[in-house]
Amino acid sequence: MRVCVIGAGPSGLAQLRAFQSAAAQGAAIPETVCYEKQPDWGGLWRYDWRTGVDEYANPVHGSMYRYLWSNGPKEGLEFADYSFDQHFGKPIASYPPRAVLFDYIEGRVKKAGVRDWIRFSTVVRDVTYDAGTGLFTVIARNGETDTESSETFDHVIVASGHFSFPNVPYYPGFESFNGRILHAHDFRDAREFEGRDILILGTSYSAEDIGSQCWKYGAKSITVAHRTAPMGYDWPDDWREVPALEKVEGKTATFRDGTEKVVDAIILCTGYKHHFPFLPDDLRLKTANRLATTDLYKGVVWTKNPRLFYLGMQDQWFTFNMFDAQAWWVRDVIMGRIALPDAAAMEADWQKRQADEDAFDSDHDAIVYQGDYVKELIAETDYPSFDVDGANEAFFQWKKHKKKAIMSFRDNGYVSPITGTMAPPHHTPWRHAMDDSLASYLQSSEAAE
Ligand code: FAD
Ligand code: NAP
Ligand code: MG
Repeated sequence: MRVCVIGAGPSGLAQLRAFQSAAAQGAAIPETVCYEKQPDWGGLWRYDWRTGVDEYANPVHGSMYRYLWSNGPKEGLEFADYSFDQHFGKPIASYPPRAVLFDYIEGRVKKAGVRDWIRFSTVVRDVTYDAGTGLFTVIARNGETDTESSETFDHVIVASGHFSFPNVPYYPGFESFNGRILHAHDFRDAREFEGRDILILGTSYSAEDIGSQCWKYGAKSITVAHRTAPMGYDWPDDWREVPALEKVEGKTATFRDGTEKVVDAIILCTGYKHHFPFLPDDLRLKTANRLATTDLYKGVVWTKNPRLFYLGMQDQWFTFNMFDAQAWWVRDVIMGRIALPDAAAMEADWQKRQADEDAFDSDHDAIVYQGDYVKELIAETDYPSFDVDGANEAFFQWKKHKKKAIMSFRDNGYVSPITGTMAPPHHTPWRHAMDDSLASYLQSSEAAE
């Protein structure tokens, strides 16, 4: 049996680790081939300074930027089989910068020894399914050698992420704006906007965090326009929330309440699209960015052809450990340890999940809902159980800390749901920590003084 994994980000790597862990316990595992379009693993956590196209003329995957720190507590994403304490050899603070989380992700898969399962610099271009043979054909292009390959597989697992293809709205006057307009996907360095007046569209995590970055690195003012509701945090003086954008003329933005603001740049923090250019209509997921995805049984099995799986396609409170829960579960379906019900039952499953999701509307309930999903999956495999309620608790505290002080919530610490360790405070408050390197983060408080 052969299994194809598309993408070596946190989701795809979880799948490789899941199979490797079964092999380590003596099970016969399928031959697993992972295609990764970038020259290295880590997905979004591998920083790419480029925008536009990459070295092989594929769309740049990276949406992360310099000085990005985790926007949620690390206690909410910790691997149950590889704790932070184990990786770093000491407790670390709760909101690590990107480079620190990349190191953690990499540590587990280096230890597992799965790097040679991955074909790097190789983009999947086309996947088809032959009902006669029951096999998928996967066509991929190696950018380094500029050659194409075609191979067949019994199963395909799509782990290509869904925060890389920007959703770009149009507003009247954009084509003649006398400044810079960019999407969050192309934002790389807040220092570019030092001394500038910035307009941000959107009110979700990108809006909040890119605005905060620009503020921290010296933007003159931040204006955030909302089309639904303001974020409502207690913002600093030079930060304003305004109604939806109506139009721009020259450098003047006009909002729905008739007020105006002259701005130098507009950053579209307007979200991303689930986009799978390599999949045909009958295999392609079409879903909103929500907790219960359309057409996926248990959030992972493509109901219209259950030999195909998707990982990490939900909107995310839980991340790395949820991808693990999914990957272990998918592994067990493929290895015949878990049986799938008939098509009607799989269809009813995602519809019920969506109805349950539609029935609540607070962030608190959303966290509990996704936590319950993680619990459900890990109870059915040998992925180590962990204190999911403890992770929920870290998320609840995080929400509270943001409400209290949006520019210093990252100075708080939480209890690990894996080891029970209490995170120490970081040596420098986030607002004053300009260096986001691994070396700086791991310095002791004494050394940093
Ligand atoms: P990705 O990380 O996107 O990885 C997908 C991989 O698939 C990539 O390596 C890509 O190159 C590869 N790929 C794509 N298409 C192809 C193809 N056709 N052929 C071959 N390979 C392909 N989560 C947190 O928990 N904490 C955070 O602080 C946090 N910050 C974030 C900040 C930003 C700006 C964004 C956009 C997301 C953030 N996230 C955060 C959420 C993030 O989605 C997850 O942490 C995680 O990266 C998702 O993993 P993934 O493997 O599903 O997708
Ligand atoms: P998102 O959560 O999908 O939010 C999209 C936003 O765009 C919403 O506020 C939406 O407004 C708005 N929007 C969409 N179309 C619009 C339009 N035509 N006009 C005006 N507004 C529009 O996307 P995101 O904020 O990019 O977050 C994506 C992921 O990245 C999340 O998982 C997040 O955790 C992650 N992230 C993490 C960090 C970090 O860790 N530091 C930083 C950034 C992002 P409505 O509410 O009105 O629909
Ligand atoms: Mg278990």
